[in-house]
Amino acid sequence: MTEQTNAGARLEAIELHRIEVPLVRPFETSFGRETVREVLLVRVRTDAGDGWAECVAGREPFYSSEYVDGAAAVIERYLAPALLAATAGGGHGGPGASPSHPSTADGAAAAIASVPAAAAVGPALAFVAGHRMAKAALEAAVLDAELRAQGRSMASCFGAVRDWVDCGVSVGIAPTLEELLDEVAGYVEQGYRRIKLKIKPGWDLVPVGAVRELLGPAGLLQVDANTAYHQGDIPLLAELDRFGLLLIEQPFAEEDLASHVALAAVCDTPVCLDESILDRTTALDAIERGATSIVNIKPGRMGGYLESLRVHEACLALEVPVWCGGMLETGLGRAANVALAALPGFLLPGDTSASDRYYAEDLTEPFVLGTGEHRGQLAVPQGSGTGVEVREELVRAWASAPPVLLR
Ligand SMILES: [Mg+2]
Repeated sequence: MTEQTNAGARLEAIELHRIEVPLVRPFETSFGRETVREVLLVRVRTDAGDGWAECVAGREPFYSSEYVDGAAAVIERYLAPALLAATAGGGHGGPGASPSHPSTADGAAAAIASVPAAAAVGPALAFVAGHRMAKAALEAAVLDAELRAQGRSMASCFGAVRDWVDCGVSVGIAPTLEELLDEVAGYVEQGYRRIKLKIKPGWDLVPVGAVRELLGPAGLLQVDANTAYHQGDIPLLAELDRFGLLLIEQPFAEEDLASHVALAAVCDTPVCLDESILDRTTALDAIERGATSIVNIKPGRMGGYLESLRVHEACLALEVPVWCGGMLETGLGRAANVALAALPGFLLPGDTSASDRYYAEDLTEPFVLGTGEHRGQLAVPQGSGTGVEVREELVRAWASAPPVLLR
């Protein structure tokens, strides 16, 4: 019989499911256009129950070097065997291996210490370079199983301070200005509290100006370039100052902190990094250099929710606001993101939109915008683990490949 201790949730098997979820409308960024979201789901089976998570890697390696086929391959070949071996008492890292982040402040450290099985995932997988989105999915699935076994919600584990979070919406590059304005007007009507426009060279000052006019001076507006510009575009980007934006997100390549520093020095609009921030260390470095004054936290990009807690804690101590980005998550990933966005340092609305922004039918119970005083907000799930249930009939119906069982 397995000893039931606080360190429960002993891993027994890992299942990978590939699904294709239809999008309500194509989503276009400076990288390209998507009509379905291909999703890799991870289910862990433990002696204390199951846990689910989704991997945020896209179908193509455009936003980051990670992509669905690559994530599935690295999990199958390296990460899952190591994690299963570590849990069995051998392998890389081993059971009870605890993450060493001595400078982590108390809130994040306490949260992480309360989930020893999830906390052991990162160290057990550290022998593989990169592949943060794949690692994050495994950690999140173990975290879900562990918190369900403990009867605790992600919000309570993370240290959430609010029951509702403000929602923004990320608006892709539209075929025409007219269609963009129609789409934005629809989101305003639905109650979204902040609009984010995707921009790229040739689609910047004019659409941003038109949307500013539509929203009026008080409407919260920001832009995201997904690395589409070069240092020579700094004068053009500085012209965005006249639109009163909350921030300009990641105009330059992820390795190019210098251009972000140069832009920040000449424009009043805060520069916010997304793609460049891989963990607490890179976040602190970028802040110290003046490359970013606001941080977009995406758990997949940072290797998991636990590293996201460390980044949040570090930014909170420096009074650097953070917000929660989005990767077109289904309800499964969205639930965890909404819990994260309820932490005290998340001072700007996230890309934590309602399910119907992306999906006619969601993988879990749908997230719906609140009404009345909660107009433009989502309720933070309070149930155990993610607090949402995966609809397994949809996992089967949307399957694009047979499931893979690893044990
Ligand atoms: Mg972004």
